[in-house]
Amino acid sequence: IQVYVPRDSAALAVGADEVADAIVAQAAARGASVELVRNGSRGLLWLETLVEVATPAGRVAYGPVGVDDVAGLFEAGFLSGADHALGHGLTEQIPWLARQQRLLCARMGVTDPLSLADYARHGGWAGLQAALQMPADTIWQTVLDSGLRGRGGAAFPAGIKWRTVAQAQAAQKYVVCNADEGDSGTFADRMVLEGDPYMLIEGMTLAALGSGATQGYVYIRSEYPVAFEVFCEAIRRATEAGFLGDSVLGSGRAFRLEARLAAGSYVCGEETAMLESLEGRRGIVRAKPPIPALKGLFDQPTIINNVLTFASAPWILAHGAPAYKAYGRGRSTGTLPFQLAGNIARGGLVELAFGTTLRQLLEDFGGGTASGRPAKAVQVGGPLGTYLPESQWDIPLDYEAYAAVGAVVGHGGLVVHDDTADLAKLARYAMAFCAHESCGKCTPCRIGSTRGVEVIDRILGLDPQRAASAGPPQAGGLPSGGDAAGVLGQKLQQVHLLRDLCDTMVHGSLCAMGGMTPYPVLSALNHFPADFGLAASPLQ
Ligand code: SF4
Repeated sequence: IQVYVPRDSAALAVGADEVADAIVAQAAARGASVELVRNGSRGLLWLETLVEVATPAGRVAYGPVGVDDVAGLFEAGFLSGADHALGHGLTEQIPWLARQQRLLCARMGVTDPLSLADYARHGGWAGLQAALQMPADTIWQTVLDSGLRGRGGAAFPAGIKWRTVAQAQAAQKYVVCNADEGDSGTFADRMVLEGDPYMLIEGMTLAALGSGATQGYVYIRSEYPVAFEVFCEAIRRATEAGFLGDSVLGSGRAFRLEARLAAGSYVCGEETAMLESLEGRRGIVRAKPPIPALKGLFDQPTIINNVLTFASAPWILAHGAPAYKAYGRGRSTGTLPFQLAGNIARGGLVELAFGTTLRQLLEDFGGGTASGRPAKAVQVGGPLGTYLPESQWDIPLDYEAYAAVGAVVGHGGLVVHDDTADLAKLARYAMAFCAHESCGKCTPCRIGSTRGVEVIDRILGLDPQRAASAGPPQAGGLPSGGDAAGVLGQKLQQVHLLRDLCDTMVHGSLCAMGGMTPYPVLSALNHFPADFGLAASPLQ
């Protein structure tokens, strides 16, 4: 009997290894024949450790399973899919999963991530097999026609990058995958690396075949040791089986792939800082132009995409561009694995076509806040993303609709805050984060972020020295001294200064680090002025 216990980092964090050991021990003690499979996660993180048992009717799910539950599950006969208080019936029919539109995550949690046979059985390599019959320009044209846009945050059309590298003249070209997933509340890249690594290998190979690149690198964040280990092993096995190497599947076309471990810098998620790091230097942003597609890694033409972008390519090549474009809305084609995190009852990965809304994600999937209190704001798109108040939760989640309200979809990470959250404190945190992570190359970001913290402290009536040396700011506090009108006047003056500063950062920064830090700051100020001790936000 096959029993599935995830080896995904989220499951390991809540004791999946111990649960797996307990299942093996119980089976041995009871003389039961159990084949343990360490799968990836299905993405229902609130049910981890999610244990599944293969039955003739399909896989039956139990969760969240702790070590102390294992003996009871055996007593109840879970090996035959019997009812239990932790049982959820057939996994595929759990509404949270059944309502999703899983293209990219179709195999996630289903297969043994490192089994080449399992990958092939579940549709793997179909895109590569199709591409090997095509000329290179048909490969990038298919990606271009699909409308696939970069999932790392910038949303640039992937096919244009692939075409640019394909048409560049150079003896050596590269494919680089940005897996430095540093945004708060995001984990989809990690789940691909750990749960379906051959999909990324296949997607990068497609990019190589379409562009003429022969060498690839995957830049994996240092905080993902399990992902790094699994992915390195996947490269080794894929190379041994002939999917990578000097002649991909005997085609005579070469593509070699290596993984590199990052060193914990947020700004190395910016593509040119990542190239610096890959070349062995400190991760400092490069000025553009030249664009990396023409002069990238080691000054050679380089396709740089995020994990989810490359991982979308196999489905597109296997099913065709029109099938992919059938999902989504407007110029935001296809699906996105949204990641529900923060103060949320049912956190996890929800893949849906663009056009869904925050309210659907929060209410239909997230089940409200974990605290049970009303949700107040959702930060979409990482630590530099906008805070959206409830009045904006019905806006369709697509790149253009979000840009129209000054927000970003980014990497699809959603961090939920309930009504106890202090948005002024979170705005201050955004500036402090930028000051800490800034690479220092340009003035608006390097100096502006530090000045930003000071200005917010003045708005909040904090003594900057006290703020630097000790505790969190007290939101809404008024500066001491002076009459009420004078105090308010000073406060408004500082708000004007903060807006000026944000304007300079948005328009004068060299990269998105400084250019986007104002997004959380201004959205907090605009939508939650009371947290700053203001009745309304001036100059909104
Ligand atoms: Fe470096 Fe910040 Fe300028 Fe980006 S915006 S180049 S991180 S100093």
